[in-house]
Amino acid sequence: MAILDGKALSEQLIDSVKERASELSPTLAVILVGENPASMAYVRNKKKACEKAGIEYLEFKYPDTITQESLLEKIKELNEDDSVNGLIVQLPLPDQIYVPDIIRAIAPVKDVDGFGAYNLGKTFLSPDFEDLPPATPLGIVKLLDHYDIQVQGKEVVVVGHSNHVGKPVSVMLLNRNATVTTCHIYTKDLSAHTKRADILIVAVGKEKLITADMVKDGVVVVDVGINRNKEGKLCGDTDFEEISKKASYITPVPGGVGPMTVAALILNTIRATERQHKV
Ligand code: NAP
Repeated sequence: MAILDGKALSEQLIDSVKERASELSPTLAVILVGENPASMAYVRNKKKACEKAGIEYLEFKYPDTITQESLLEKIKELNEDDSVNGLIVQLPLPDQIYVPDIIRAIAPVKDVDGFGAYNLGKTFLSPDFEDLPPATPLGIVKLLDHYDIQVQGKEVVVVGHSNHVGKPVSVMLLNRNATVTTCHIYTKDLSAHTKRADILIVAVGKEKLITADMVKDGVVVVDVGINRNKEGKLCGDTDFEEISKKASYITPVPGGVGPMTVAALILNTIRATERQHKV
């Protein structure tokens, strides 16, 4: 078994854009609402990655009482600010905020999380149209590519069908000619599907949802989940210890998909800036 080392690859990718960043001087703006500890940790990582890459990082913090109107007003201001190239609103948002309207308000050219309909629609078409694909799926594709894991003709099983991870990663791998099965909460016999997988991608948010008896020997496992176990330690959705004995490759949590998501955000910020400068 080999580890898919997202941390190391993320550092390499961030390093590789430094020169381009110094030519383009990109700026990423991040809106953070409330004090959710996980969101604060993600935002810290994004800030650190920007500093390493040479991307200017602007953070706008608001209390969790902010209204939809004020948030939309700030997004409009940042959309219109030519010195801002990428804009993300860290999710989740408090209940009074209607997330689809927030995502829709972000200018597609600055949507470096790739959550908006325009960028998702382009991602649907073919790899050639993936200008700003969603960051986590892009990170997963980069990780598979780096380890030379062929996708074409493989049985890929994705567990989870969220708009940010499960659905777009399914489409991106379908675009690369995998045979993709997407499972979710209504899937009748999850293990009947996971057992067939050459490549298994799990993005649910449930500790040990996937156990060793649910995978075949030699499987490649990409674990997107981020959970805390009863000892308070970070863990994914798969039983890493037992599945490692059967897998050919597996991502650790932490150190797998998480850092790749951050690296993909950096790549998207560079890409967005290039497109805005038409270079
Ligand atoms: P989400 O929007 O909550 O989606 C979870 C998906 O899992 C949904 O499609 C849900 O189906 C499905 N599901 C729930 N229980 C299931 C079960 N027992 N069997 C099969 N499918 C089930 O979450 P998300 O945003 O995709 O995130 C998923 C996990 O990845 C979370 O732990 C999150 O923290 C993590 N994450 C990590 C990164 C990273 O960079 N590492 C990035 C994004 C997310 P229904 O919708 O039908 O309930």
